[in-house]
Amino acid sequence: MVDLRRQYLRLRPDIDRAISEVVGDAHFINGPQVRRFAESLESYLEVPHVVTCGNGTDALQIALMALDLRPGDEVIVPAFTYVAAAEVVALLGLIPVWVDVDPATFTINPSLVEGAISGKTKAIVAVHLFGQCADMEPLMRIANENGLYLIEDNAQSLGADYRFPDGHTRKAGTIGHIGTTSFFPSKPLACFGDGGALMTADDYWAERARMIASHGQKVKYHHQILGCNSRLDTLQAAVLEVKLPHLAEFNAARQAVAARYDEALRDDPRWIIPQRAGYSSHLYHQYTLRINDRQRDGLRDFLASKGIPSMIYYPLPMQKQEAFYGFARKGSTLDVADSLSETVLSLPIHTEMTDEEVLYIIDTIKRYEY
Ligand SMILES: *Cc1c(COP(=O)(O)O)cnc(C)c1O
Repeated sequence: MVDLRRQYLRLRPDIDRAISEVVGDAHFINGPQVRRFAESLESYLEVPHVVTCGNGTDALQIALMALDLRPGDEVIVPAFTYVAAAEVVALLGLIPVWVDVDPATFTINPSLVEGAISGKTKAIVAVHLFGQCADMEPLMRIANENGLYLIEDNAQSLGADYRFPDGHTRKAGTIGHIGTTSFFPSKPLACFGDGGALMTADDYWAERARMIASHGQKVKYHHQILGCNSRLDTLQAAVLEVKLPHLAEFNAARQAVAARYDEALRDDPRWIIPQRAGYSSHLYHQYTLRINDRQRDGLRDFLASKGIPSMIYYPLPMQKQEAFYGFARKGSTLDVADSLSETVLSLPIHTEMTDEEVLYIIDTIKRYEY
């Protein structure tokens, strides 16, 4: 699905130099690379604060803790998504409330959010799924009108631009009250292990997030609030420092593959190609088809028999995950999430795909018969 090795080989001299510098200095925790990378990401995203942490799931947990959400508070979460947001909500004793997604973009459906708000609702988590932003303008309006926090889970869409109705754009993750991201090896900006970050324009939340990620302390051994231990390693920051200047090029490389898939696969009644929202760029973190007539698993097996991987992101919507049977409340009907989990199939897409690989995948898919 991704080729991490080829990307490394392409950037090898710079990455090896950065890694050996860290190893040589033996400054493994909070080396200067960590702060430098955070500052570079602040400039790239045009956001006042980036707070680094151990992974994207921690980033979401730290965001909820920074906002001081309390057990019993309700948090609206899309029903079709990666588990992390729902998981940390439930872990903190908050109540996830599922809201259905838009069938075209797979992101939370703003028109269903208001109906899910109760007296206990405190926050909305918008997930920018598969490389495309959730529709932030209506979500921010709903959040502001109802006194809610809006958190952006931007693990899959770092570098995407959201376009407001008046035409101005902002980077995904910098529009809501707090944004979070992950540098897991398959994500748009990827390190060589685990890593994550939060981003916010708010000085107070940034300081709280920084403290929470460091055992609730500002001054060593003076623990003012409850925190956790969540750090971006110096080694990972060094890798990310090398890769950040290439992020736009990485995203463009996937967009070029997606354009070729689109061209070859559009107007075929057997499936629906990924739809692009007018308000967002699409980075194609995943290239996800919807397959008609319950033939999804047949296509997946056929591709596998020809040596082509494909993945089902995600085979179960949140409301069907056993871990959440007891926790969640349904904020809307969840038919779209249900149907997507039965019809989606993601094709290989990454920054290093060759023409031959793309052509082979396209030719093979076209030969699929049912
Ligand atoms: C990967 C991912 C996360 C979690 O990131 P980790 O670094 O693996 O903890 C959270 N949300 C979404 C949407 C993701 O894709």
